[in-house]
Amino acid sequence: MTSKTLTLADCRAMDASDPLAKLRDQFDLPADVIYLDGNSLGAMPRSSARRAQDVITQEWGVGLIRSWNTAGWFDMPRKLGNKLARLVGGNDNEVVVTDTTSTNLFKVMAAALRLQKDKAPQRRVIVSERNNFPTDLYITQGLMDLLSSLGSADYELRLVDGVEGLEAALTEDVAVVLLTHVNYQTGYMYDMADITAKVHKVGAVTVWDLCHSAGAVPIDLNGANADYAVGCTYKYLNGGPGSPAFLWVHPRHQESFWQPLSGWWGHARPFAMESQYDPHQGVKRYLCGTQAITSLALVENGLDTFADTNMEELREKSLKLTSLFIDLVHQECAGFPLTLNTPLDTKYRGSQVGFEHPHGFAVVQALIERGVIPDYREPSIMRFGFTPLYIGFEDVWNAVAVLKEILQSNSWDQPKFHQRGTVT
Ligand SMILES: *Cc1c(COP(=O)(O)O)cnc(C)c1O
Repeated sequence: MTSKTLTLADCRAMDASDPLAKLRDQFDLPADVIYLDGNSLGAMPRSSARRAQDVITQEWGVGLIRSWNTAGWFDMPRKLGNKLARLVGGNDNEVVVTDTTSTNLFKVMAAALRLQKDKAPQRRVIVSERNNFPTDLYITQGLMDLLSSLGSADYELRLVDGVEGLEAALTEDVAVVLLTHVNYQTGYMYDMADITAKVHKVGAVTVWDLCHSAGAVPIDLNGANADYAVGCTYKYLNGGPGSPAFLWVHPRHQESFWQPLSGWWGHARPFAMESQYDPHQGVKRYLCGTQAITSLALVENGLDTFADTNMEELREKSLKLTSLFIDLVHQECAGFPLTLNTPLDTKYRGSQVGFEHPHGFAVVQALIERGVIPDYREPSIMRFGFTPLYIGFEDVWNAVAVLKEILQSNSWDQPKFHQRGTVT
């Protein structure tokens, strides 16, 4: 924490000297909103509206089926994968943009288990975190159920807490370690290279979920010698609601990559219409079937919002934003029951900050009504995402001012703020 009292003038001075401030013009954000939920759904790039119109009226409306070739629809998963690769430390022909994160998790978990079964069949343990994002655990459980119910193999899912728990769980019977790089609840970020080395030391392989880190923090998948990775494009990558996810595999595992969702888009010759599956020799073997082209096309607009910057610059600003927010909440809202659940050590911090409050849900609803949009996650976590592409330092000041007012006036304690929608 800083000792000096922070002022609005300090925040304005930080904006004035921010080389990334102009990047916000790429987005169409309502003027009366401070958007602190880009970690859940990124803001809309201005160019996306035009692109969506063009895909629908021109490529589909006029080009019709010809657009699979003439508008490059068929090759889009690979082409966008190459563009995304530079944000996660991948190279050309290592990444595809396709399907959902959940579906891609199923593919890579199956591929990782198959790789290990061929090398070391006695390894029957999958390690993950108890507070991992639920879909990661559910997909793993589904795959385990499938393998066990068909009498193929019984795996154990070993859930751990914290880095110490993780390191203690790394024994010689571990096949795969599935971790989310930046935790969705706490914003805790693993040291990917360090953990990967420890996992490899016991002969296991890593699956990294990058949903809360792609576009949020610098990632070097090849540099960390990771094995498999998946992630979202609709969070920090601004691809639009439900836009297709991505999947990365280290080149050393590409040829052995086997997955049970062996649809025709992963075939070496999809239009030969052969009756036997023969996987594509390259990155296309990670695909399954026909993609949601309208949504896929907009991933490019999201990725293009990174064109004039790089992850190192964004990281510097992101840490300034999250540190400022933490300091200001401590300065302005002392005395209220707020507990920081995000690491103070910036080495282990993603691009979000969580504060627990006994009535976190209602406080978040009151904030949203005042135009400050964070989100809420069980149990009692108010989650504030800071996307340096479009959030400024004065925004942080204003958001904390509104939070303070809501807490001081108890205005969150109204029946309407306790009502829960289906999506929180
Ligand atoms: C957002 C998120 C997902 C979402 O998966 P979908 O298949 O897109 O619903 C998965 N894992 C993590 C860690 C996430 O944060």
